[in-house]
Amino acid sequence: MVPHYYYGLHRSLKPTHVFPQPAWTLNPSLPIHPSELLIDVEALHIDSASFAQLKQETNNSLDLLTEKIGQIVQERGKMHNPITGSGGMLIGMIKQVGDQFIDQSIRAGQKIASLVSLTLTPLSLSNIHHIDLTTGQINVDGYAILFSSSPFAVLPDDMDQHVALAVLDVCGAPAQAARLVEANQVVVVLGAGGKSGLLTLAEVSRKVGDNGLVIAVEQNMDLCDQIENLGLAHHVCCADATDPVAVLEKVSSLTDGKLADITFNCVNVPGTELSSIVATKEEGIVYLFSMAVQFTAAALGAEGIGKDVQLMIGNGYAPGHANHTIELLRNTPQLLEFFTKKYGS
Ligand code: NAP
Repeated sequence: MVPHYYYGLHRSLKPTHVFPQPAWTLNPSLPIHPSELLIDVEALHIDSASFAQLKQETNNSLDLLTEKIGQIVQERGKMHNPITGSGGMLIGMIKQVGDQFIDQSIRAGQKIASLVSLTLTPLSLSNIHHIDLTTGQINVDGYAILFSSSPFAVLPDDMDQHVALAVLDVCGAPAQAARLVEANQVVVVLGAGGKSGLLTLAEVSRKVGDNGLVIAVEQNMDLCDQIENLGLAHHVCCADATDPVAVLEKVSSLTDGKLADITFNCVNVPGTELSSIVATKEEGIVYLFSMAVQFTAAALGAEGIGKDVQLMIGNGYAPGHANHTIELLRNTPQLLEFFTKKYGS
């Protein structure tokens, strides 16, 4: 297939001839190209960094939030937050499969979750029904278009679809944790009480084994209690991840000054780069999953304190990441129960 259609460059409107993610505006008009997939969208899951920013901007007003989200989608042809640069993902039912779409095993009527960011997914909304201020999930009427290059997953039939939507949005984090973490390591997870944080904890606690150490850092007291109850970390520190001194003191005292082999940053607010770096030992890995992380703050933060750590940008994609995460959840019943209570319909 011509790369232009495979990657969806034909949908970029402003400017033209660029990939759809960096394009300011996409053209979501119908009909679909034969290389595309058309989806009747049921719900969007707004990326946590984006949702936190939008809630702050609109002062948690549902009316203003509805207006703002409608306006972004109308103007950009995609749900691409211009401030945070992040998107989220969607669930919906396949309406039409283009006859050149790369995966011809998929059929109209199947329910799927897109595993590609809303920042590059052509989207048109006719109605926003309901916004859940706690979870960032939005029930909508509208349609979206996937390119042949866009990963997606058929929704599992043994799980509430809103739970699947919540966890699939962040499924890159536990999948990457499975690749990076080794037995006996010390691992710190910042923002440990959120979706990606809890899934990462579940993965990491399996991987480090009996002689490893898992330290969860979360600022919200209730979530700290929840993490304790879920039994997914050896230590839970109630600390502010934007305060590097507090994080360093806690991690240092829990590890006798050795610090972490790997730190996962799963926080949804800015200003946590330095905490991730100071929590990690020399030549350790800092995995920056958070979309609120800034390259300059991370790079200059490490340089500024003379710390030789490997700074990794959290790639949201890893082969098999969706299945891996759904399986992880099935095998961690207490976490599945927690997610079902929090995100289930
Ligand atoms: P989430 O469910 O909202 O979790 C974020 C957690 O961080 C929450 O428990 C939050 O607590 C906690 N937190 C907030 N401020 C904190 C602070 N100062 N100190 C310690 N903890 C703090 O978010 P998520 O969906 O897991 O996403 C996490 C991050 O990953 C976001 O930035 C999101 O944009 C990003 N993301 C990245 C990718 C990728 O491909 N790399 C994909 C999806 C999402 P409260 O609830 O009390 O605020």
